[in-house]
Amino acid sequence: MDSQEAVRPDSNPHDAVVIGAGPNGLVAANLLADAGWRVLVLEAQSAPGGAVRSDEDVRAGWVHDTFSSFYPLAAASPTIQGLGLERFGLEWIRAPASLGHPLPGGRWAVVHPRREDTAASLDRLHPGDGDAWLRACALWDRVGDDLITALLSPFPPVRAGARLAALAPRVGGLAFVRDLLLPVRRLGDEWFGGDAPKLLLAGNAAHADIAMDAPGSGLMGLLLAMLGQTHGFPVPRGGAGRLTAALVARLESVGGEVRTDAHVRAVVVRSGRAVGVTLDSGESIAAGRAVLADVSAPALFGGLVPWSDLPDRLRRRMRSFEWDAGTIKVDWALNGPIPWAATPELTPGTVHLADSVADLAIAGAQLSAGRVPERGLVILGQMAATDPTRAPVGSESVWAYVHVPQRVAVADQPHPEIVDEQRAEQAANQVEGRIEEFAPGFRDRVLDRRVLGPAELERRDENLVGGALNGGTAAIHQQLFWRPVPGLGRPETPIQGLYLASASAHPGGGVHGACGSNAARAALAHDRFERVTSRRLLPAAVARVGSLGKRRP
Ligand SMILES: Cc1cc2nc3c(=O)[nH]c(=O)nc-3n(C[C@H](O)[C@H](O)[C@H](O)COP(=O)(O)OP(=O)(O)OC[C@H]3O[C@@H](n4cnc5c(N)ncnc54)[C@H](O)[C@@H]3O)c2cc1C
Repeated sequence: MDSQEAVRPDSNPHDAVVIGAGPNGLVAANLLADAGWRVLVLEAQSAPGGAVRSDEDVRAGWVHDTFSSFYPLAAASPTIQGLGLERFGLEWIRAPASLGHPLPGGRWAVVHPRREDTAASLDRLHPGDGDAWLRACALWDRVGDDLITALLSPFPPVRAGARLAALAPRVGGLAFVRDLLLPVRRLGDEWFGGDAPKLLLAGNAAHADIAMDAPGSGLMGLLLAMLGQTHGFPVPRGGAGRLTAALVARLESVGGEVRTDAHVRAVVVRSGRAVGVTLDSGESIAAGRAVLADVSAPALFGGLVPWSDLPDRLRRRMRSFEWDAGTIKVDWALNGPIPWAATPELTPGTVHLADSVADLAIAGAQLSAGRVPERGLVILGQMAATDPTRAPVGSESVWAYVHVPQRVAVADQPHPEIVDEQRAEQAANQVEGRIEEFAPGFRDRVLDRRVLGPAELERRDENLVGGALNGGTAAIHQQLFWRPVPGLGRPETPIQGLYLASASAHPGGGVHGACGSNAARAALAHDRFERVTSRRLLPAAVARVGSLGKRRP
């Protein structure tokens, strides 16, 4: 049965409606507008950007990125690089070092801008690890670009996949493939001798929300560590919101439009085809060629599109859709830099706090068992050290986040409970305690603090269900052709002209724009195909049929 909403075909002239102005929605809109489509982006919140926004709500003069902060994936993404956002005010800026990890005993593992310096520093901590780091970098030089292209392309990645297959025999063949599939704990143990590089890899895998012992977590840890080494972890000068502002300015320069405070209630489906959307206000907006949804898969299937318009098979499969863990984020305005007990050789923008790889493995197990990890990874950003415009001179703008289960198992309670505001405040206090261990006196420098628990994150961006920041787990069983569920794997949906453009689609979370780009390219390709068949092939075929039986003069 079709959706009952009425869409006046002449109500407005848009070719495409994009639901949601997150980075994926804005990238998709830009690519469609580049192809000459008239595009309207509808955003529920009063500002565009999704999880790419910044504000001064913690304290005037201190800029905080409300959600995401560091963008190595954007820097490596051919799609985002191809948009030329620098012409629209975006300026990337990097911390002196991309990543640091304080170690017990007052030492640090630091990723320096030059690989030789990282290697020398790791070698001082454990002789032999310097050469091992350089070997990892040399391997990355050969396969890194193709691996990233393959991961960010629509599945299956035919060209990049073929290049990788051709390269594999020259970089170790099956042994290389095996290494890429290893859990990060094993990869660290096989490649390195000391704790420092093992923690750099493991911290990055946990940062990407993949368990230490999960197959493929080694690749994720290596990928982020190597991006830190080759591209750095850049941020937009002035705040994450500048990336969004550049995407919006570029879109408007090619005729696209963004409307905020416009929450989409339903996708209108007629004869199996998406023909527009309806807003909460009751207003209907027609989409002549396509609707692209930068919303989570569960919000689209059975939400914006009722199950009555979708195949039963999809409904059954969506029951197995798995969210990623929740998040508690804390922002602080400090009156000085973080007073690290031991000063790192070079100031890192991103800091990972974890005592050992074993602690990270235990935290992962606690998360899967529904427990709040006692000593999970704390991911922390020193923003003024990265970009001096983020806070008054001499002070610091800091954030940190930790993962928590979507539902917490409670002793003697039959049902797990959500992480409410009280639990979020407790977790924030624990995070402060963890920072104090490495930086005694941290609390004394706090001027103001803000805690964003799972419910608050979701209130500010409804794709962040329960504080999930990846649009669904990044574990291998929900990646590639299994994302968001087996049978989809590409942006196309069972509804013609409707595309899933959010992080719930392959390749998942992170600000790389690939989900949006894949959806836009799919929409353009289908539209071209339909136009060719209906305008050229069909009339030609009809003409041919019509001419049959006619005698030649
Ligand atoms: C705390 C946090 C930290 C992170 N850190 C990083 C990081 O440092 N680096 C990195 O690369 N990634 C990071 N991420 C992940 C990254 O931000 C996300 O993966 C990315 O923003 C996903 O983009 P998206 O466009 O798919 O969705 P989103 O950014 O979530 O945007 C979706 C948009 O759609 C809108 N919307 C949803 N439903 C509707 C509707 N029905 N009608 C209208 N509008 C709707 C929402 O309001 C939102 O604006 C982080 C995420 C969080 C939450």
